Amino acid sequence: MAQPEDAFKAVISHAKEYGFIFQSSEIYDGLSAVYDYGQNGVMLKNNLKSYWWRSMVQLQENIVGLDSAIFMHPSVWKASGHVDAFNDPLIDNKDSKKRYRADVLVEDHVEKLKQKADKEVAKAAKRFGESFDAEMYRSTNPRVMGYLSKAKDVMDQFVACLEAEDLEGVKQVIIDAGIKCPVSGSDKWTDVRQFNLMFGTKMGSVAEGAVDLYLRPETAQGIFVNFLNVQKTGRMKIPFGIAQIGKAFRNEIVARQFIFRMREFEQMEMQFFVKPGTEMEWYNHWKQVRLQWHLAMGLSEDNYRFHDHDKMAHYANAAADIEFQFPFGFKELEGIHSRTDFDLKSHEEHSGKKLRVFDPETKENYVPYVVETSVGLDRLFLSVLSESLVEEPLEKGGNRTLLKLPYALAPTQAAILPLLKKDGLPELARQLMKDLTFDYQMAYDEKDAIGKRYRRHDAIGTPLCFTVDHQSLEDGTVTMRDRDSMSQERIPSSDLGLHIKQQCGMESLLKKL
Ligand code: ATP
Repeated sequence: MAQPEDAFKAVISHAKEYGFIFQSSEIYDGLSAVYDYGQNGVMLKNNLKSYWWRSMVQLQENIVGLDSAIFMHPSVWKASGHVDAFNDPLIDNKDSKKRYRADVLVEDHVEKLKQKADKEVAKAAKRFGESFDAEMYRSTNPRVMGYLSKAKDVMDQFVACLEAEDLEGVKQVIIDAGIKCPVSGSDKWTDVRQFNLMFGTKMGSVAEGAVDLYLRPETAQGIFVNFLNVQKTGRMKIPFGIAQIGKAFRNEIVARQFIFRMREFEQMEMQFFVKPGTEMEWYNHWKQVRLQWHLAMGLSEDNYRFHDHDKMAHYANAAADIEFQFPFGFKELEGIHSRTDFDLKSHEEHSGKKLRVFDPETKENYVPYVVETSVGLDRLFLSVLSESLVEEPLEKGGNRTLLKLPYALAPTQAAILPLLKKDGLPELARQLMKDLTFDYQMAYDEKDAIGKRYRRHDAIGTPLCFTVDHQSLEDGTVTMRDRDSMSQERIPSSDLGLHIKQQCGMESLLKKL
């Protein structure tokens, strides 16, 4: 099996070679952590958006959509806490001159300790065979307990320092834990500083009168400030949700790992407004619903896990991540947060406007609590792309590069391929294609030998290829080739649309939810 770094490199180069993702402004040597989606990337991205939107809005009676502006009144970010608290602690290594997020350094260290404990348990399981009790071993073996208690101590101390805003303490935790720079191997660290992640800009034609604005660092606030507009005009009753897909911007300290951490990215967020006291019920509900949504795509279940937070954001009373096993390890893909009434209350205070709903039972107005689901579209894209890319050995020898995307998400749903560029085959192929393009994203391809064309479509994940040959002229049938099994069968050309719909329609995915 390929090493994880090699697998990740293969994903990045495949994304470029096949028109999924390009570095932004590449001809000017690129702009760091900003990416463009190419001809296939934009289709896959749009399909992911559509899967999310249809499952969250179209299929839910009590969730509606919104598209709020990127620019917002600057007071929004004061009220949300972003001006004062949307900081990451950064630290530099004096030898390598590399900059790190202190929390990431600590989390990686803790994860390594946990992995060491897991390795000990796995070794013991091999040694003791069937009678082995892993839980018992974890709580009694001194070495395993040592690793786990060290991991817990480091994390507890770190969280305590962050909560007390003790940045010297954070540095001390890093030094005491013996955390070294992954590049230089040295432990010569600078002091820890807080760094605000919001991008500032100005609005206005003259410098003196210009207003300082921020590019939004999350889409959620656009939902909160429109909460009453939507509730009243949509006659929405608690519990209900507002969903939005849109760009967000963060001046990330360490932007790397391709589209995992970008400075401009896209979020798909849903804020669900509930009665205070019912939030944990809804929080657990949405945790399960969102995990199921990811699993329905059919990628390996082992790649997903929950991570419940020890350290909560300033607004949350419960928080979990759905983590995905990217080629560089398990990392956050989606966040599910119980945000209490923090945001709405704070906007009430800063705006002087009431953001309340009427409770017909108690006859009182109250500020609802909020449960949020927030998934990064680009991270979702990376999860699907990295898991789908495989090198598959062929029976006849050699390999094929296959992008095993879920059929409903593939950039192109089906390709029409005339076997030869003559004898009326291209004309028939184009005629079949013409009808289907109204409903599906089709590709027409007549260049190169048929085997080569199949490979090209395997590499971009096209689920079905229809080949038009001489028999098609005689009896109106074509060959349908399935991407994953490579099996071929003859079908009437009048059934092409039906096959595409059955196998590649978004409905098949949505019905699994
Ligand atoms: P991280 O801890 O990785 O910085 P976060 O906890 O700050 O992420 P949230 O504020 O919860 O992230 O944002 C919700 C989702 O938005 C994340 O789960 C992630 O998928 C996505 N996201 C956040 N920051 C970025 C980024 N810089 N690039 C791409 N996606 C991002």
